[in-house]
Amino acid sequence: MIFPLLRRHFLEPLYIMKSGSAKLSYWRRLEESQFYSRNQLEEIQWSRLQKLWRFLWRENGFYQKQFQNAGLKENDLKGPEDIRRLPILTKKEILRQGHAMLSTGYQPNRLLNFKTGGSTGKALEILITEECSELRNACARRHDRWTGWEPGEQIGAVWGNPKLPKTLRAKLLNACVQPYIYLDTMAVTDESVQEFAKTWDNNKPTLLFGHAHSLYIVAKYIKRLKIDTIRPVGILSTSMMLLPHERTMIERVFNCSVTDRYGCEEVSLIACECEKHNGMHMNIEHLVIEFIREDGSHAGPGEPGRIVVTDLMNRAMPFVRYEVEDVGVFFDQDCTCGRGLPLMGKVTGRVADFLLKRDGTRVAGVSLIENTLTRIPGIEQMQIVQEDLDSFNLNIVPGKSYGHSQANELERYFQTLFGDSLRINIRVTDEIKPEKSGKYRFSICKIDH
Ligand SMILES: [Zn+2]
Repeated sequence: MIFPLLRRHFLEPLYIMKSGSAKLSYWRRLEESQFYSRNQLEEIQWSRLQKLWRFLWRENGFYQKQFQNAGLKENDLKGPEDIRRLPILTKKEILRQGHAMLSTGYQPNRLLNFKTGGSTGKALEILITEECSELRNACARRHDRWTGWEPGEQIGAVWGNPKLPKTLRAKLLNACVQPYIYLDTMAVTDESVQEFAKTWDNNKPTLLFGHAHSLYIVAKYIKRLKIDTIRPVGILSTSMMLLPHERTMIERVFNCSVTDRYGCEEVSLIACECEKHNGMHMNIEHLVIEFIREDGSHAGPGEPGRIVVTDLMNRAMPFVRYEVEDVGVFFDQDCTCGRGLPLMGKVTGRVADFLLKRDGTRVAGVSLIENTLTRIPGIEQMQIVQEDLDSFNLNIVPGKSYGHSQANELERYFQTLFGDSLRINIRVTDEIKPEKSGKYRFSICKIDH
Protein backbone atom coordinates (compact mmCIF):
# COMPACT_ATOMS: atom_id res chain seq x y z
CA MET A 1 0.00 0.00 0.00
CA ILE A 2 3.04 2.28 -0.15
CA PHE A 3 2.50 3.17 -3.78
CA PRO A 4 -1.00 4.69 -3.30
CA LEU A 5 0.42 6.86 -0.50
CA LEU A 6 3.33 7.91 -2.69
CA ARG A 7 0.91 8.83 -5.47
CA ARG A 8 -1.44 10.68 -3.12
CA HIS A 9 1.12 12.68 -1.19
CA PHE A 10 3.92 13.16 -3.70
CA LEU A 11 3.51 12.12 -7.36
CA GLU A 12 0.05 13.56 -8.04
CA PRO A 13 0.59 16.88 -6.17
CA LEU A 14 3.91 17.26 -8.00
CA TYR A 15 2.28 16.61 -11.38
CA ILE A 16 -0.59 19.00 -10.66
CA MET A 17 1.76 21.69 -9.34
CA LYS A 18 3.85 21.42 -12.51
CA SER A 19 0.73 21.85 -14.68
CA GLY A 20 -0.18 25.00 -12.73
CA SER A 21 -3.69 23.67 -12.02
CA ALA A 22 -5.77 24.82 -9.06
CA LYS A 23 -7.37 21.38 -8.77
CA LEU A 24 -5.89 20.33 -5.44
CA SER A 25 -6.35 23.61 -3.59
CA TYR A 26 -9.90 23.87 -4.91
CA TRP A 27 -10.62 20.28 -3.88
CA ARG A 28 -9.44 21.05 -0.33
CA ARG A 29 -11.87 23.96 -0.17
CA LEU A 30 -14.69 21.70 -1.34
CA GLU A 31 -13.77 19.14 1.31
CA GLU A 32 -14.37 21.85 3.90
CA SER A 33 -17.46 23.45 2.41
CA GLN A 34 -19.45 20.19 2.29
CA PHE A 35 -19.82 20.49 6.08
CA TYR A 36 -20.86 24.16 6.04
CA SER A 37 -24.40 24.91 7.16
CA ARG A 38 -27.14 25.04 4.54
CA ASN A 39 -27.20 28.85 4.86
CA GLN A 40 -23.47 29.20 4.26
CA LEU A 41 -23.66 26.94 1.21
CA GLU A 42 -26.61 28.87 -0.18
CA GLU A 43 -24.58 32.05 0.29
CA ILE A 44 -21.77 30.62 -1.88
CA GLN A 45 -24.34 29.60 -4.49
CA TRP A 46 -26.04 32.99 -4.45
CA SER A 47 -22.80 34.90 -4.75
CA ARG A 48 -21.73 32.76 -7.74
CA LEU A 49 -25.13 33.18 -9.36
CA GLN A 50 -24.85 36.97 -9.11
CA LYS A 51 -21.38 36.86 -10.68
CA LEU A 52 -22.66 34.61 -13.50
CA TRP A 53 -25.62 36.92 -14.14
CA ARG A 54 -23.36 39.98 -14.40
CA PHE A 55 -20.97 38.06 -16.66
CA LEU A 56 -23.79 37.02 -19.01
CA TRP A 57 -24.99 40.61 -19.24
CA ARG A 58 -21.62 41.79 -20.41
CA GLU A 59 -20.12 38.85 -22.25
CA ASN A 60 -22.70 36.57 -23.81
CA GLY A 61 -24.77 37.56 -26.86
CA PHE A 62 -27.11 34.58 -26.66
CA TYR A 63 -28.13 35.34 -23.06
CA GLN A 64 -28.29 39.07 -23.73
CA LYS A 65 -31.11 38.23 -26.17
CA GLN A 66 -32.72 35.93 -23.61
CA PHE A 67 -32.68 38.76 -21.03
CA GLN A 68 -34.14 41.17 -23.56
CA ASN A 69 -36.92 38.75 -24.63
CA ALA A 70 -37.83 38.16 -20.98
CA GLY A 71 -37.97 41.93 -20.37
CA LEU A 72 -35.21 41.72 -17.75
CA LYS A 73 -32.77 44.41 -16.63
CA GLU A 74 -29.30 43.90 -15.19
CA ASN A 75 -30.37 44.69 -11.63
CA ASP A 76 -33.47 42.47 -11.76
CA LEU A 77 -31.69 39.61 -9.97
CA LYS A 78 -32.80 40.38 -6.41
CA GLY A 79 -32.88 36.79 -5.15
CA PRO A 80 -32.05 33.30 -6.46
CA GLU A 81 -35.66 32.75 -7.55
CA ASP A 82 -35.39 35.58 -10.11
CA ILE A 83 -33.41 33.27 -12.37
CA ARG A 84 -36.75 31.55 -13.01
CA ARG A 85 -37.72 34.49 -15.20
CA LEU A 86 -35.33 33.23 -17.87
CA PRO A 87 -36.63 30.54 -20.27
CA ILE A 88 -35.67 26.88 -19.94
CA LEU A 89 -32.75 25.87 -22.17
CA THR A 90 -33.53 22.73 -24.18
CA LYS A 91 -31.14 20.39 -26.00
CA LYS A 92 -32.82 21.41 -29.25
CA GLU A 93 -31.99 25.06 -28.60
CA ILE A 94 -28.34 24.19 -27.86
CA LEU A 95 -28.14 22.31 -31.17
CA ARG A 96 -29.72 25.25 -32.97
CA GLN A 97 -27.36 27.81 -31.41
CA GLY A 98 -24.09 25.85 -31.59
CA HIS A 99 -21.11 28.15 -31.12
CA ALA A 100 -23.41 31.18 -30.90
CA MET A 101 -23.76 30.21 -27.22
CA LEU A 102 -20.07 30.91 -26.56
CA SER A 103 -19.17 33.99 -24.51
CA THR A 104 -17.09 36.81 -25.96
CA GLY A 105 -13.40 36.01 -26.28
CA TYR A 106 -13.72 32.22 -26.04
CA GLN A 107 -12.38 30.54 -29.19
CA PRO A 108 -13.64 27.01 -29.94
CA ASN A 109 -10.13 25.83 -30.88
CA ARG A 110 -8.77 26.91 -27.49
CA LEU A 111 -11.43 25.08 -25.48
CA LEU A 112 -11.91 21.46 -24.50
CA ASN A 113 -14.52 20.10 -26.81
CA PHE A 114 -16.50 16.94 -26.22
CA LYS A 115 -19.60 15.37 -27.64
CA THR A 116 -22.25 13.89 -25.43
CA GLY A 117 -24.22 10.83 -26.36
CA GLY A 118 -24.20 7.91 -24.01
CA SER A 119 -25.87 9.63 -21.11
CA THR A 120 -28.76 11.05 -23.10
CA GLY A 121 -28.95 9.31 -26.47
CA LYS A 122 -28.66 12.81 -27.90
CA ALA A 123 -25.60 14.34 -29.55
CA LEU A 124 -24.52 17.71 -28.17
CA GLU A 125 -21.20 19.49 -28.52
CA ILE A 126 -20.02 20.93 -25.21
CA LEU A 127 -17.14 23.37 -24.84
CA ILE A 128 -15.43 24.18 -21.55
CA THR A 129 -12.16 25.73 -20.48
CA GLU A 130 -9.34 23.63 -19.11
CA GLU A 131 -9.85 25.42 -15.78
CA CYS A 132 -13.55 24.56 -15.63
CA SER A 133 -12.67 20.95 -16.35
CA GLU A 134 -10.19 20.96 -13.45
CA LEU A 135 -12.82 22.39 -11.08
CA ARG A 136 -15.22 19.66 -12.16
CA ASN A 137 -12.53 17.03 -11.54
CA ALA A 138 -11.84 18.48 -8.10
CA CYS A 139 -15.54 18.23 -7.29
CA ALA A 140 -15.79 14.64 -8.56
CA ARG A 141 -12.81 13.79 -6.35
CA ARG A 142 -14.63 15.01 -3.23
CA HIS A 143 -17.58 12.75 -4.09
CA ASP A 144 -15.40 9.80 -5.09
CA ARG A 145 -14.09 9.82 -1.51
CA TRP A 146 -17.63 9.31 -0.20
CA THR A 147 -17.37 5.72 -1.48
CA GLY A 148 -14.39 4.97 0.81
CA TRP A 149 -11.81 5.40 -2.00
CA GLU A 150 -8.80 7.64 -1.31
CA PRO A 151 -6.75 9.59 -3.87
CA GLY A 152 -3.82 7.61 -5.20
CA GLU A 153 -5.65 4.28 -5.00
CA GLN A 154 -6.39 2.36 -8.19
CA ILE A 155 -9.80 2.42 -9.84
CA GLY A 156 -11.41 -0.44 -11.75
CA ALA A 157 -13.72 0.99 -14.41
CA VAL A 158 -16.44 -0.86 -16.27
CA TRP A 159 -16.61 1.44 -19.28
CA GLY A 160 -17.08 1.51 -23.06
CA ASN A 161 -14.12 2.00 -25.35
CA PRO A 162 -11.76 3.01 -22.53
CA LYS A 163 -8.99 5.42 -23.38
CA LEU A 164 -6.07 3.10 -22.72
CA PRO A 165 -2.71 4.80 -22.29
CA LYS A 166 -0.75 4.31 -25.50
CA THR A 167 2.34 6.50 -25.33
CA LEU A 168 5.07 6.04 -22.75
CA ARG A 169 4.12 9.37 -21.16
CA ALA A 170 0.44 8.34 -20.89
CA LYS A 171 1.44 4.98 -19.40
CA LEU A 172 3.66 6.67 -16.85
CA LEU A 173 0.89 9.10 -15.96
CA ASN A 174 -1.58 6.23 -15.55
CA ALA A 175 0.82 4.36 -13.28
CA CYS A 176 2.09 7.30 -11.23
CA VAL A 177 -0.84 9.73 -11.00
CA GLN A 178 -4.20 8.07 -11.49
CA PRO A 179 -4.10 4.38 -12.24
CA TYR A 180 -7.11 2.76 -13.87
CA ILE A 181 -7.83 -0.76 -15.01
CA TYR A 182 -10.72 -1.34 -17.42
CA LEU A 183 -13.35 -3.80 -18.49
CA ASP A 184 -14.58 -2.69 -21.92
CA THR A 185 -18.39 -2.72 -22.00
CA MET A 186 -18.37 -2.81 -25.80
CA ALA A 187 -17.45 -6.50 -25.56
CA VAL A 188 -18.39 -8.33 -22.36
CA THR A 189 -17.65 -12.06 -22.45
CA ASP A 190 -16.72 -14.75 -19.91
CA GLU A 191 -13.09 -14.33 -20.99
CA SER A 192 -13.01 -10.53 -20.71
CA VAL A 193 -14.58 -10.67 -17.23
CA GLN A 194 -12.07 -13.34 -16.14
CA GLU A 195 -9.21 -11.24 -17.51
CA PHE A 196 -10.53 -8.18 -15.64
CA ALA A 197 -10.70 -10.23 -12.42
CA LYS A 198 -7.09 -11.33 -12.92
CA THR A 199 -5.90 -7.76 -13.50
CA TRP A 200 -7.92 -6.69 -10.46
CA ASP A 201 -6.20 -9.33 -8.32
CA ASN A 202 -2.77 -8.16 -9.49
CA ASN A 203 -3.43 -4.45 -9.00
CA LYS A 204 -5.96 -4.42 -6.13
CA PRO A 205 -8.03 -1.33 -7.00
CA THR A 206 -10.28 -0.09 -4.21
CA LEU A 207 -13.06 1.51 -6.26
CA LEU A 208 -15.29 -0.16 -8.83
CA PHE A 209 -16.83 2.39 -11.15
CA GLY A 210 -19.36 2.18 -14.00
CA HIS A 211 -22.82 2.79 -15.39
CA ALA A 212 -25.49 1.24 -13.16
CA HIS A 213 -26.67 -1.35 -15.66
CA SER A 214 -23.12 -2.31 -16.69
CA LEU A 215 -22.20 -2.97 -13.06
CA TYR A 216 -25.31 -5.14 -12.76
CA ILE A 217 -24.47 -7.20 -15.87
CA VAL A 218 -20.88 -7.67 -14.71
CA ALA A 219 -22.11 -8.70 -11.24
CA LYS A 220 -24.18 -11.43 -12.91
CA TYR A 221 -21.10 -12.72 -14.76
CA ILE A 222 -19.01 -12.64 -11.56
CA LYS A 223 -21.66 -14.66 -9.74
CA ARG A 224 -22.03 -17.26 -12.48
CA LEU A 225 -18.27 -17.60 -12.97
CA LYS A 226 -17.81 -17.84 -9.16
CA ILE A 227 -15.10 -15.14 -9.18
CA ASP A 228 -14.19 -13.99 -5.68
CA THR A 229 -11.16 -11.76 -6.24
CA ILE A 230 -13.00 -8.48 -6.93
CA ARG A 231 -13.40 -6.96 -3.45
CA PRO A 232 -13.68 -3.16 -3.72
CA VAL A 233 -14.08 -0.86 -0.70
CA GLY A 234 -16.54 1.23 -2.71
CA ILE A 235 -18.70 0.96 -5.81
CA LEU A 236 -19.70 4.04 -7.74
CA SER A 237 -22.70 3.81 -10.02
CA THR A 238 -23.21 6.69 -12.38
CA SER A 239 -25.16 8.29 -15.25
CA MET A 240 -28.10 5.90 -15.42
CA MET A 241 -30.99 4.81 -13.25
CA LEU A 242 -29.81 2.40 -10.54
CA LEU A 243 -32.82 0.12 -10.25
CA PRO A 244 -33.44 -1.37 -6.76
CA HIS A 245 -33.06 -5.01 -7.86
CA GLU A 246 -29.79 -4.11 -9.65
CA ARG A 247 -28.45 -2.44 -6.54
CA THR A 248 -29.28 -5.45 -4.35
CA MET A 249 -27.60 -7.82 -6.80
CA ILE A 250 -24.42 -5.69 -7.14
CA GLU A 251 -24.12 -5.24 -3.37
CA ARG A 252 -24.54 -8.97 -2.71
CA VAL A 253 -22.05 -10.08 -5.33
CA PHE A 254 -19.30 -7.63 -4.35
CA ASN A 255 -20.20 -7.58 -0.64
CA CYS A 256 -19.98 -3.79 -0.68
CA SER A 257 -22.48 -0.94 -0.74
CA VAL A 258 -23.16 1.02 -3.92
CA THR A 259 -22.84 4.82 -4.02
CA ASP A 260 -25.27 6.19 -6.57
CA ARG A 261 -24.28 9.33 -8.42
CA TYR A 262 -26.24 11.54 -10.75
CA GLY A 263 -24.72 13.75 -13.40
CA CYS A 264 -24.40 14.37 -17.09
CA GLU A 265 -21.58 15.41 -19.38
CA GLU A 266 -23.13 18.82 -19.96
CA VAL A 267 -22.86 20.08 -16.37
CA SER A 268 -20.90 17.24 -14.73
CA LEU A 269 -21.79 16.07 -11.21
CA ILE A 270 -25.32 17.02 -10.11
CA ALA A 271 -25.75 14.96 -6.93
CA CYS A 272 -24.23 12.01 -5.13
CA GLU A 273 -25.05 9.70 -2.24
CA CYS A 274 -22.88 9.86 0.86
CA GLU A 275 -22.00 6.90 3.07
CA LYS A 276 -25.42 7.10 4.76
CA HIS A 277 -27.37 6.55 1.49
CA ASN A 278 -30.26 8.78 2.55
CA GLY A 279 -30.64 10.28 -0.93
CA MET A 280 -28.18 12.22 -3.07
CA HIS A 281 -26.49 15.41 -1.83
CA MET A 282 -26.87 18.15 -4.44
CA ASN A 283 -23.73 19.90 -5.68
CA ILE A 284 -25.03 23.38 -4.89
CA GLU A 285 -21.62 25.06 -4.85
CA HIS A 286 -21.48 24.49 -8.63
CA LEU A 287 -25.13 24.34 -9.65
CA VAL A 288 -28.59 25.74 -9.09
CA ILE A 289 -30.97 22.77 -9.34
CA GLU A 290 -34.70 23.25 -9.90
CA PHE A 291 -37.58 20.75 -9.95
CA ILE A 292 -40.39 21.86 -12.22
CA ARG A 293 -43.98 20.70 -12.61
CA GLU A 294 -45.55 20.15 -16.04
CA ASP A 295 -47.26 23.55 -15.82
CA GLY A 296 -43.90 25.29 -15.28
CA SER A 297 -44.38 26.01 -11.57
CA HIS A 298 -41.96 24.67 -8.96
CA ALA A 299 -42.53 21.31 -7.31
CA GLY A 300 -42.62 21.07 -3.52
CA PRO A 301 -40.46 18.72 -1.41
CA GLY A 302 -41.08 15.08 -2.25
CA GLU A 303 -43.04 15.98 -5.37
CA PRO A 304 -41.61 14.80 -8.72
CA GLY A 305 -40.45 17.54 -11.09
CA ARG A 306 -38.41 17.91 -14.29
CA ILE A 307 -34.79 18.59 -13.37
CA VAL A 308 -33.42 21.93 -14.61
CA VAL A 309 -29.85 23.03 -13.78
CA THR A 310 -27.79 26.20 -14.01
CA ASP A 311 -24.03 25.69 -14.17
CA LEU A 312 -22.32 28.39 -12.08
CA MET A 313 -18.82 27.47 -13.27
CA ASN A 314 -18.82 27.19 -17.09
CA ARG A 315 -18.14 30.68 -18.45
CA ALA A 316 -17.16 29.61 -21.99
CA MET A 317 -20.51 28.01 -22.89
CA PRO A 318 -22.88 28.89 -20.07
CA PHE A 319 -25.82 26.61 -19.29
CA VAL A 320 -28.60 28.51 -17.57
CA ARG A 321 -31.80 26.64 -16.69
CA TYR A 322 -30.80 23.63 -18.74
CA GLU A 323 -33.35 20.82 -18.93
CA VAL A 324 -31.54 17.53 -18.33
CA GLU A 325 -34.63 15.49 -19.30
CA ASP A 326 -34.83 13.52 -16.07
CA VAL A 327 -37.40 13.65 -13.30
CA GLY A 328 -36.43 13.94 -9.64
CA VAL A 329 -37.55 15.10 -6.20
CA PHE A 330 -35.89 17.21 -3.55
CA PHE A 331 -36.19 16.47 0.14
CA ASP A 332 -36.40 19.03 2.90
CA GLN A 333 -34.84 16.90 5.64
CA ASP A 334 -31.15 16.94 6.57
CA CYS A 335 -28.82 13.98 6.21
CA THR A 336 -27.50 12.23 9.31
CA CYS A 337 -23.92 12.60 7.97
CA GLY A 338 -23.88 16.29 8.97
CA ARG A 339 -23.22 17.68 5.47
CA GLY A 340 -25.11 20.85 4.66
CA LEU A 341 -25.62 19.96 1.01
CA PRO A 342 -29.36 19.37 0.47
CA LEU A 343 -30.77 16.01 -0.63
CA MET A 344 -32.58 14.87 -3.76
CA GLY A 345 -33.73 11.61 -5.29
CA LYS A 346 -34.14 10.56 -8.87
CA VAL A 347 -37.51 9.28 -10.03
CA THR A 348 -36.89 8.42 -13.64
CA GLY A 349 -33.96 8.65 -15.95
CA ARG A 350 -32.03 6.88 -18.60
CA VAL A 351 -32.11 3.13 -19.00
CA ALA A 352 -30.30 1.18 -21.68
CA ASP A 353 -30.24 -2.57 -22.27
CA PHE A 354 -27.17 -4.54 -23.24
CA LEU A 355 -27.30 -5.88 -26.82
CA LEU A 356 -26.28 -9.37 -27.88
CA LYS A 357 -23.91 -10.59 -30.58
CA ARG A 358 -24.29 -14.00 -32.28
CA ASP A 359 -21.19 -15.34 -30.42
CA GLY A 360 -22.72 -14.40 -27.05
CA THR A 361 -20.70 -11.20 -26.50
CA ARG A 362 -22.68 -8.46 -24.76
CA VAL A 363 -22.44 -4.86 -25.88
CA ALA A 364 -23.51 -2.04 -23.51
CA GLY A 365 -26.22 0.00 -25.26
CA VAL A 366 -25.03 3.12 -23.45
CA SER A 367 -21.49 2.70 -24.86
CA LEU A 368 -22.71 1.82 -28.35
CA ILE A 369 -24.88 4.94 -28.54
CA GLU A 370 -22.00 7.08 -27.31
CA ASN A 371 -19.58 5.62 -29.87
CA THR A 372 -22.05 5.94 -32.73
CA LEU A 373 -23.00 9.54 -32.00
CA THR A 374 -19.41 10.67 -31.61
CA ARG A 375 -18.25 8.70 -34.69
CA ILE A 376 -21.01 9.61 -37.16
CA PRO A 377 -21.96 13.30 -37.30
CA GLY A 378 -25.43 14.43 -38.30
CA ILE A 379 -27.47 12.35 -35.86
CA GLU A 380 -29.33 14.39 -33.30
CA GLN A 381 -30.86 11.54 -31.32
CA MET A 382 -30.87 7.80 -31.62
CA GLN A 383 -32.64 4.78 -30.18
CA ILE A 384 -31.45 1.22 -30.82
CA VAL A 385 -33.96 -1.64 -30.82
CA GLN A 386 -32.53 -5.13 -31.27
CA GLU A 387 -35.39 -7.33 -32.53
CA ASP A 388 -33.33 -10.55 -32.77
CA LEU A 389 -29.70 -11.62 -33.30
CA ASP A 390 -29.72 -10.44 -36.92
CA SER A 391 -32.01 -7.45 -37.01
CA PHE A 392 -31.99 -3.95 -35.57
CA ASN A 393 -34.35 -1.05 -35.84
CA LEU A 394 -32.62 2.29 -35.44
CA ASN A 395 -34.84 5.27 -34.70
CA ILE A 396 -33.04 8.43 -35.74
CA VAL A 397 -33.81 12.10 -35.22
CA PRO A 398 -31.71 13.57 -38.05
CA GLY A 399 -29.52 16.63 -37.70
CA LYS A 400 -28.75 19.14 -40.44
CA SER A 401 -26.02 17.10 -42.08
CA TYR A 402 -27.80 13.72 -42.01
CA GLY A 403 -28.15 11.98 -45.38
CA HIS A 404 -27.51 8.78 -47.34
CA SER A 405 -23.83 8.61 -46.53
CA GLN A 406 -24.52 8.77 -42.77
CA ALA A 407 -27.16 6.04 -43.14
CA ASN A 408 -24.64 3.86 -45.02
CA GLU A 409 -21.99 4.57 -42.43
CA LEU A 410 -24.39 3.55 -39.66
CA GLU A 411 -25.16 0.31 -41.41
CA ARG A 412 -21.48 -0.47 -41.94
CA TYR A 413 -20.62 0.34 -38.32
CA PHE A 414 -23.31 -1.95 -36.93
CA GLN A 415 -22.33 -4.72 -39.37
CA THR A 416 -18.68 -4.46 -38.28
CA LEU A 417 -19.81 -5.01 -34.70
CA PHE A 418 -22.66 -7.49 -35.10
CA GLY A 419 -21.82 -9.33 -38.37
CA ASP A 420 -22.34 -8.91 -42.12
CA SER A 421 -25.68 -10.69 -42.14
CA LEU A 422 -27.18 -7.99 -39.91
CA ARG A 423 -30.36 -6.34 -41.21
CA ILE A 424 -30.77 -2.72 -40.23
CA ASN A 425 -33.93 -0.79 -40.60
CA ILE A 426 -33.43 2.95 -40.12
CA ARG A 427 -36.52 4.95 -39.24
CA VAL A 428 -36.19 8.70 -39.43
CA THR A 429 -38.48 10.48 -36.99
CA ASP A 430 -38.99 13.96 -35.52
CA GLU A 431 -38.91 12.90 -31.90
CA ILE A 432 -38.11 9.93 -29.67
CA LYS A 433 -40.37 10.16 -26.68
CA PRO A 434 -39.77 8.77 -23.23
CA GLU A 435 -42.00 5.91 -22.11
CA LYS A 436 -45.14 6.57 -20.08
CA SER A 437 -43.16 5.98 -16.89
CA GLY A 438 -40.86 8.86 -17.89
CA LYS A 439 -37.89 6.55 -18.55
CA TYR A 440 -35.79 7.25 -21.62
CA ARG A 441 -35.07 3.80 -23.06
CA PHE A 442 -32.59 4.48 -25.80
CA SER A 443 -31.29 0.94 -26.16
CA ILE A 444 -33.82 -1.89 -26.14
CA CYS A 445 -33.00 -5.58 -26.57
CA LYS A 446 -35.94 -7.89 -27.26
CA ILE A 447 -33.87 -11.07 -26.94
CA ASP A 448 -34.15 -12.79 -23.58
CA HIS A 449 -30.60 -12.87 -22.17
ZN1 LIG B 1 -25.25 12.53 3.88
